Amino acid sequence: MAKEKTELITKDGIRHDGRKKNDLREIKFEVGVLDRAEGSCLITWGRNKILAAVYGPRELHPKHMAMPDKALIRCEYRMVTFSVPERKSPAPKRREREISKILSEALKPAVFDYLYPRSVIDVFIEVIQADGGSRCAAVTAASLALADAGIPMKDLVTGCAAGILDGQVVLDLDDVEDKDGDGDLPFAYLPHTDEVVLLQSDGVFTPKEYKEALDMLIPAVKKIYQMQRDALTNKYSRITEEVIETLDEESEPKKTESSTESNEKKAEPVKKETKKKADEKKSKEPADEKAEKKTSKKTEKKTVDKKKTSPKEKAEKK
Ligand code: ADP
Repeated sequence: MAKEKTELITKDGIRHDGRKKNDLREIKFEVGVLDRAEGSCLITWGRNKILAAVYGPRELHPKHMAMPDKALIRCEYRMVTFSVPERKSPAPKRREREISKILSEALKPAVFDYLYPRSVIDVFIEVIQADGGSRCAAVTAASLALADAGIPMKDLVTGCAAGILDGQVVLDLDDVEDKDGDGDLPFAYLPHTDEVVLLQSDGVFTPKEYKEALDMLIPAVKKIYQMQRDALTNKYSRITEEVIETLDEESEPKKTESSTESNEKKAEPVKKETKKKADEKKSKEPADEKAEKKTSKKTEKKTVDKKKTSPKEKAEKK
């Protein structure tokens, strides 16, 4: 018996999950979620949950793959075994190899790769939960992870897909729509420089449908781009706040230090005065001592003289 097809879209353009034709699913970014990666991003796009981690720029192995004038952007897209309703084999399949390749090609134009010759920038993408449009969500998260790693980029990469449901062009297909729809158009774009870096087509699009799809995709990626920028800004404004707090905390004991310093400074003249007095005393002391010594010597001399004269006197007397 043939499987009954769910109604994907009504004549009024309302989709099976209640969205309108050009509505996006809810998108959330968390930047810098991994401690050991140079940069990372967790994206939640509808029911998709995808983690992107960036390692490098670092030495490339095997060395023969190194390029003398630029870095290799090496992408690895994987779906974990529990990411889909039926257990997926952990071995990488043709689809994962294809997506890894197209993602690395989509990221390359955004990165100033000539800054890191003979090295590699590894981008690992783990799809933890898949729900359609995972490659577009993956490229969007990967570009944020690259930015989080501090890799110089000319722009962020933003992806989104459009598709056809019962002859109507719609934005951002979920898994049900992807499987039962009539076509899927994954798209990635550099919104600032206006460059298309990924465009695939699964199904047949007429020129009119294609144009309609692009007219939906470009404003949508611009909206997502703003969310990416906000996610980065949030992370770095949080860091700035933390740094300011730490500096404040550090400056507080410094204040006491500085007050001690100022006390020391205040105390310094007193010390100096005391030192001066002490020096004066010292300088006086030897003088006194000298005087005393002189007096004592004189007295001694006198005594000696007295002693010397006294026998003479005695003799004279005699
Ligand atoms: P994208 O995720 O970019 O739309 P595809 O069009 O190839 O890529 O896949 C559409 C959806 O099909 C995926 O997001 C996922 O939900 C589902 N899917 C992909 N591979 C498998 C698989 N091996 N088993 C079950 N579902 C899968």
